[in-house]
Amino acid sequence: MPESCFEILDPRFRRLHIGSARLDRLYDGCRWAEGPAYFPAMRCLIWSDNPNNRMLRYDECNGTVSVFRQPSNFSNGNTVDRSGRLVSCEHGGRRVTRTEADGRLTVIADRHAGKKLNSPNDVVVKSDGSIWFTDPTYGIDSDYEGYKAPSEQKGSLVYRVDPDSGEVAAVADDFVQPNGLAFSPDESLLYVADTGATHSENGPRHIRKFAIGKGGKLKDKGVFAECTAGLFDGFRLDAEGRVWTSAADGVHCYDPDGTLIGKIKVPEVVANLCFGGPARNMLYICGTTSLYAVRMPVNGAKTF
Ligand code: MG
Repeated sequence: MPESCFEILDPRFRRLHIGSARLDRLYDGCRWAEGPAYFPAMRCLIWSDNPNNRMLRYDECNGTVSVFRQPSNFSNGNTVDRSGRLVSCEHGGRRVTRTEADGRLTVIADRHAGKKLNSPNDVVVKSDGSIWFTDPTYGIDSDYEGYKAPSEQKGSLVYRVDPDSGEVAAVADDFVQPNGLAFSPDESLLYVADTGATHSENGPRHIRKFAIGKGGKLKDKGVFAECTAGLFDGFRLDAEGRVWTSAADGVHCYDPDGTLIGKIKVPEVVANLCFGGPARNMLYICGTTSLYAVRMPVNGAKTF
């Protein structure tokens, strides 16, 4: 009997996993897997193989993996909006795009204050149609996962794109390297990771929490959790407001009160994850070279 992939750190985690559930490796040919996004209508998962400049598609019905888009402009984070459209961050294009129903790309954001963005990293869409994304420098730091270039912005900011005017407004400017982001199930809170430790010794390796006010104004509620293994990159919330986040040794599960209650151990560094499947109870995990999945007794927050 193989060892369980689950680690219980708090009794609250007991009912959040099935001890016999297996972590399946669905694909292992990536250089850096990121940005999983689940399409319920197609029953497929699209994710980025960022340094390989391509996006891949896992077909949940027959288990096959194929190339979805290549080149992908070094795509990174992806999400699905409420109309079922793919929204992507591109390091290479230094922009956020949306793939329309007819396949054409619409540029959602590529500049702020008249200057080029750094390299959008991760993106979420709120039910009001506003699009929120982070803009660290990873895609312009070198040619590894984008194109080396100087930053034109005053820092690495978090932005909100207004659903009516399309205006790209900065909502937070005090991050070192903002990274993954996600809303609470009722969309009253926004969580944003800071992976600034990659760029400064003793830099941040945590997730911050914000209350969302009128017009998207953020009120800082402080640090939600400090990472105990590597860095928090991308993450998602379940329907009861727990945070399931990437870390160096797998997926960490945090109660809404900020307690680390359990882990899913993954044999590679995890960069991002998302809930999928028709019931949003399949956890898809992007771990360095591989795509993994594990079936859960919890459901992801409703985003479709
Ligand atoms: Mg990221």
